[in-house]
This record gives sequence, structure tokens and C-alpha cells, in this order.
Amino acid sequence: MPTVVCNESGLDTDLLRGDFPALQQLVHGRQLVYLDSAASSQTPRQVISALLEYYERDRSNVHRGVHELSQRATDKYESARYRLQRFLNAAEPEEVVWTRGATESINLVAAGWGRQNVGPGDEVLVSAMEHHSNIVPWQILCKERGARLRVIPMNRRGELVEGALDTMLSPRVRIVAVAHVSNALGTVNPVREIAAKAHAAGALCLVDGAQSAPHMPIDVQEMGCDFFALSGHKMCGPTGIGALYARRPVLEAMAPYQSGGDMISSVTFEHTEYNDLPHRFEAGTPAIAQAIGMAAAVDYLESLGMDRIQAHERDLLAYGTERLSAIPGLRLIGTARDKAAVVTFDLEGAHPADLGTLLDHQGIAVRVGHHCAEPAMRFFGLSAAARASFSFYNTRSDFDALAEAVETAKEILA
Ligand code: PMP
Repeated sequence: MPTVVCNESGLDTDLLRGDFPALQQLVHGRQLVYLDSAASSQTPRQVISALLEYYERDRSNVHRGVHELSQRATDKYESARYRLQRFLNAAEPEEVVWTRGATESINLVAAGWGRQNVGPGDEVLVSAMEHHSNIVPWQILCKERGARLRVIPMNRRGELVEGALDTMLSPRVRIVAVAHVSNALGTVNPVREIAAKAHAAGALCLVDGAQSAPHMPIDVQEMGCDFFALSGHKMCGPTGIGALYARRPVLEAMAPYQSGGDMISSVTFEHTEYNDLPHRFEAGTPAIAQAIGMAAAVDYLESLGMDRIQAHERDLLAYGTERLSAIPGLRLIGTARDKAAVVTFDLEGAHPADLGTLLDHQGIAVRVGHHCAEPAMRFFGLSAAARASFSFYNTRSDFDALAEAVETAKEILA
């Protein structure tokens, strides 16, 4: 359980920050202001303890041993799946496949589902604001299968153009793959509506939830998507673990992505019978410690309450946006009406890399670059921009520090 956690107005950030050892440090002699959670969040000690306990007590392989340690590890590994199922409100734990992260989840779908279901003349739709990991796997698939990758356009605010999807949908479209929240712009896309439209046109819908799962309640059944991809390290979990949610009938019909141990039920030199779901898609020794750590992360988030996390971060978004947009020469990139946890900006006359370095010298960690969304950056006429991304452990004072540091950097760079 977190040390936490609530006062009348919501989360008690002063208290809960104590759960995050990495937030306690000085960087370049200043108290760290961590505003890079969209790249990777920080880890609470409850997750670190779960990892330690596995390594110090239960360390062994899963699904393979009758001995005590292996049984403990297997129980914890499988119970982690239940916890994530509940977190996502998937109908059953078998619909949750452990992967290395959102990237691997999307690759799994592109390979396991795509090669069977996308053919010459078919179309795959992605949006103009996608992360490279929701572009490149589809690009490779389309090239291999003679299909066409088409892009749902966005407007200058960084929102999907209204009505564009309707005109693009046709019987040729096999899947619509969109980010729930854009990592580069913060836009929240109307995924429920997108999934319903895709289905009405006979297509499936994949939602890239890498940037939504850490910030809002997720209900995949209510969303109506066929696939939902997430990464553990962005939601207080360990690195090297993530998950793919897929509806059972879709998963049942999919081809294995990787093969070898654990994904089989019997093997002869002539023929292999595959294992049941979800093990069919988890070849080899999995990321056991990381799955156990993920369970602790999900428990942590749930104990804070995703509603409370969302409310706290909405306040921060409004405050941070106001603070930064008051700086002369600063242009916000991504001004969608529905946004989450990301404020990307360009500062006139300052190269983002120089700005990022000057901010770092003041103890402030932001991301600078194309944010693995080069097409989205190019749309705004940029090759790079600075991004402040935050989480429930951030406070308004973090944005005060950022705004002051940007002003200082501006003077230095002038
Ligand atoms: N999609 C989005 C929207 C992301 O922000 C990221 C990570 N930046 C990914 C996918 C890929 O996640 P990972 O690198 O953890 O696989």
C-alpha cells in the first residue's frame, strides 16, 4: 500500500512523493523536477520491494517446476495477469498477453493478426499523430502484403479532423490503429467512437494505450477496442514489461508471433500443438520479475484511484499550460480540447537541445527531440520540440520551476 494518500482536495502529493526514492535527489545541485514521465515514469518503493522479494525469495522459473520456489513464482506471475485484467476490465485473464511493452504488443498484432488478415488492396488506417511504434509495424506489414497504409489527418490543434475517418472507412479497411493519447501532443482521441465506426465498417480497432493507461481509468470492454497495447515502465512498473489486451475470439484466431518453449502443448518433429491462451503468445521464459513488479504498480495506481489521478493531472495540465503560454516567444505544440499529461512547446530562437541542456543544469528533466513521432512534429513545421510530461507525483510548483527556468534559459540563449 502507498504511504498515501488523500486529503479533501484529492491526492496528497507531499506524502506520496515519499514513495518515490528517485524523486528525492538533487541534480546539478538542485532538487530534481522530473517532467519526463511520458518517456518513463518513476518507480515507487512498493514496486521495488516486489522486485526485491522475487529476487531474494522466489527466484526461479515459471510453469516448469513442482518445487516450492517455482510454484510461488508461477502463482505471482499468473496473479499479476489477473491484476492487470481487472485494471483494464478485460473479460478474462486469458485476454491479457505479457509483452516487452507497447512496441512489442503492436508488432505482435501486425505479425500475428496482420499477416493472416491483410492482403493485396486492403488498407490499414493510422492517425497523423502516431508514435513510430504504431506506424512502422503497419508500414512493414502493408509492404509485405501489398496493402496500403493511410493516414487520418489532424488539424492545427492536433485533433483528428472531424469526419475524416468516416470518409476513409470502406470495406477495404482491415484495421484502424490509433493512439488513445498522443505522446507528442497530449491529444486524447475519441477511441470509443473510433472503435464503433471501425466495427460498423467491418474493420478491427487497435488502441495504443501507452500514454493513457498511466493517466485515466481504462475499460477495454466499454471502449470496444479489439486490441489495447500498454507499457509497464510508463505506469510506475519495471522496464521490459508491457501487455497486449485482445478480445478472445480475435486472439484465438491469431497465429503465434514467436515460437519455442511455453507456447506449445505438444511437439513432435512432424507437428506442434500450440498451448492455450494466453501462453501461445508468450514463448520462452517470460519477464517474471517484471510481471510481478507490474502487479505492484497496478495495485499502487488503484490504491490512489485512477479518477483521482486524472483529476490531479487535469489541474496540473491547466496550470502548466497557463504558466508556459504566458512566456513571450513560447508556442504550445498541441492544443487539443481534450488533452492529458503532456505540454509540448517550441521556444522562438532556441534550439530544443540547447534548451533541454540548460533546463537540465537547473535540475529540470524534460524531453527534447521528435518524441518518436516525426510525422507529427513535421506537421507543425518542426524537427524537434521540448516536452514537459507529468504524472500524479508532480505538483504546480514543478511547473513554476519549469517556467522560471525557461525564462532564464531564454535570457542565456538570447
Ligand atoms: N506508443 C506511444 C504513444 C508511446 O508514447 C510509446 C513510448 N514513448 C510507445 C508507443 C512505445 O512504448 P515502448 O517504448 O514502451 O514500447
